[in-house]
Amino acid sequence: MERNKSFIWSQAGLIVLLVLGSILSLGLMIPVRPTVFTNKIEKDISDKNSITTEVETQKRVEKFRLAMLSTWQKQALEKGLAYNIPKRFRGVTINQAKVPSRKKLIALTFDDGPWDNYTREILDILKEHQVKATFFVLGQALKNKPDMGRRIVSDGHVIANHTWNHRYHYHNPKTAASEIDRSSELIYKTTGVKTTLFRPPGGILNNGLVAYAKKKNYTVVMWSADSNDYKRPSVGTLVNSVVRQSTPGGIILLHDGGGNRSRTVESLVPMIQILKEQGYTFATIPELLEAEEQERKLGKSRKKKSPQPQGKSKKTS
Ligand SMILES: [Zn+2]
Repeated sequence: MERNKSFIWSQAGLIVLLVLGSILSLGLMIPVRPTVFTNKIEKDISDKNSITTEVETQKRVEKFRLAMLSTWQKQALEKGLAYNIPKRFRGVTINQAKVPSRKKLIALTFDDGPWDNYTREILDILKEHQVKATFFVLGQALKNKPDMGRRIVSDGHVIANHTWNHRYHYHNPKTAASEIDRSSELIYKTTGVKTTLFRPPGGILNNGLVAYAKKKNYTVVMWSADSNDYKRPSVGTLVNSVVRQSTPGGIILLHDGGGNRSRTVESLVPMIQILKEQGYTFATIPELLEAEEQERKLGKSRKKKSPQPQGKSKKTS
């Protein structure tokens, strides 16, 4: 009996110990668990906050970007840079405009940019000499230099389409559409200008690009004076060649991108000076076409038409 009693007591003692132990463990656990839990909640909230902040920042940046873009588009429209090309020139190819020799208008055109340094240097020279020009830009180049594209427009020049990739091979309607539409969309998004002027890479007229451009009512702009500046002739040769080929209503082909254009930059000042001395006034392509249109309306262009040399090189635009 005594044995049983002490057995029972020892059993009871064990139970008490177990219960106490459990209470103690629970007591220890209770303050621990909420801490872990609270930390998790805090972490979740902090993650959520940082995601929210990120989304808010993105929204603000996007709003700012759109506001800037809309300002640009507004300015472009206010400045009259959303130009209109007279109907007769839509969907056709031109090499030069038919303007009377007394007017002596001529257009400088630059292809393949915007390109680091050269485009900037050319813009500086044009500004200094108060000359307006036309820039046939590549979509992929403009994508890399959007600020330069905007400067072309804000300086009062005309920005136009020269495809996205500058490829010479045959384009089916789908790839032609991609090359031309994508570039025009980027020009619009970047500068606010809706261009309707197109120059095919290499001056190639039969690889599908021009067919698509004409279908879309672009004016296909070739040239009457090829500087051959891509061959990097001496400044003297380059200037003389351009001056020799210059005619009223003429379109001069130059490059601000696609390679080393330092000779083009160097030639620009003497070229502008000589042509000005010869009585030429520089015009953009829309201005040149508008001048022809006005002459036609006045019925004066029939009196005397200037000769129209054709663009000779097919590899340089
Ligand atoms: Zn080109």
